[in-house]
Amino acid sequence: MRKSVAIVGGGIIGLMSAWRLAREGHSVIVFERHKTCGSESTCAAIGALMPLPPNKDGDMAVFQRHSHDLYPDYMKELSEELGVPHPYKACKRVQILRSEKEICMTRDMAKGYPNSIDYLTEEKVRALEPQVETLGFGALFCHDTSSINPIHLVKILLQALKKYNIHVFNGVSITQARPQGDKFEISASVGSFVVDDFVVAAGLGSTGLAPGVPVTPVKGQGVAIHMDKKVISHLVRHQGLYIIQDDDLTIRIGATSEPKAVHMLPDEAGYNTLLAKAYEVLPALRDGEIKYVWSGARPKGPDGKFHIDREDSTFGAIVATGHYKVGIGLAPATAEKVCMLVAETQPNRLQSS
Ligand SMILES: Cc1cc2nc3c(=O)[nH]c(=O)nc-3n(C[C@H](O)[C@H](O)[C@H](O)COP(=O)(O)OP(=O)(O)OC[C@H]3O[C@@H](n4cnc5c(N)ncnc54)[C@H](O)[C@@H]3O)c2cc1C
Repeated sequence: MRKSVAIVGGGIIGLMSAWRLAREGHSVIVFERHKTCGSESTCAAIGALMPLPPNKDGDMAVFQRHSHDLYPDYMKELSEELGVPHPYKACKRVQILRSEKEICMTRDMAKGYPNSIDYLTEEKVRALEPQVETLGFGALFCHDTSSINPIHLVKILLQALKKYNIHVFNGVSITQARPQGDKFEISASVGSFVVDDFVVAAGLGSTGLAPGVPVTPVKGQGVAIHMDKKVISHLVRHQGLYIIQDDDLTIRIGATSEPKAVHMLPDEAGYNTLLAKAYEVLPALRDGEIKYVWSGARPKGPDGKFHIDREDSTFGAIVATGHYKVGIGLAPATAEKVCMLVAETQPNRLQSS
């Protein structure tokens, strides 16, 4: 059944969900409180798509791997719909090891998952990434890692929404949606809307609309360096840091994790920490020029877990939030689940209202 759906939040979760819903024939509107979509957490992301290793199970790991598997097809569809290239790259990952213990763990994983993990000796690292310095222990090479430039992704998702005639109301903050029979009524500065279904994908703003899902900010900072040559071909991971080189040769390094930050702006201590770690494994970066630094806040869900379900505190509306450090990676599977929830009947909403 074709439904009308309102989404609050023009970050990756809201935009990806809007696009998938439109493809299924639903009529969608999106509300975004800023003038530009993606301007809270999404465009601050590095865009490392790194599912949990194959030896981890549990719902989160399975969901993350499923989302990673969906990415290539979703991006192919997006690219075909628009006739433009997509920003997704199956770039794989070189992760610098720091101890004999890590070598043993990597070798064990490589034995168990030969199609996914390899152990690289020093020589192999040099052959694969000549500019990368190791710490004497070689590296883990992971096939299941991709990257995407989130700013580019937001741009093409918005183009797709336009193609489906989805209206994105920018600069419109939603404070409430009330049940009206089996529908939702949303009052906004641009008018009042009655829709069949309502999705809260508002990142840190979600709690204001869905008090039952507390989301807290965790600051992260990044640095971009202008390079005039290609220095790496894979995503390089070192001490929790991601280093990615874009097609325009810009190197993006991130991110810090600062749960107790007193402000959300970039600061010298943050980007100096990132640079020091990055120079350790990629000394060639010292020849580059710092292009910009940035910061953002990750929306951390209750107990660090994301929430994608109907929610009583919003009269049975769908709440998709709390994606914390992995929201770019989880966007395809989240959008898929939002589509499933929209397609189902809505017992929670009927009970609550
Ligand atoms: C420094 C940094 C690095 C990161 N790196 C990665 C990475 O490499 N890989 C990865 O997968 N993830 C990464 N993340 C995490 C990722 O960015 C987030 O998990 C993801 O962007 C969350 O998306 P979202 O759409 O839920 O939230 P947001 O992008 O914050 O979008 C929510 C939107 O809702 C809008 N909104 C809020 N309240 C309202 C309201 N009342 N009315 C209207 N609009 C409203 C906001 O303005 C915002 O635009 C990183 C995050 C940071 C900060």
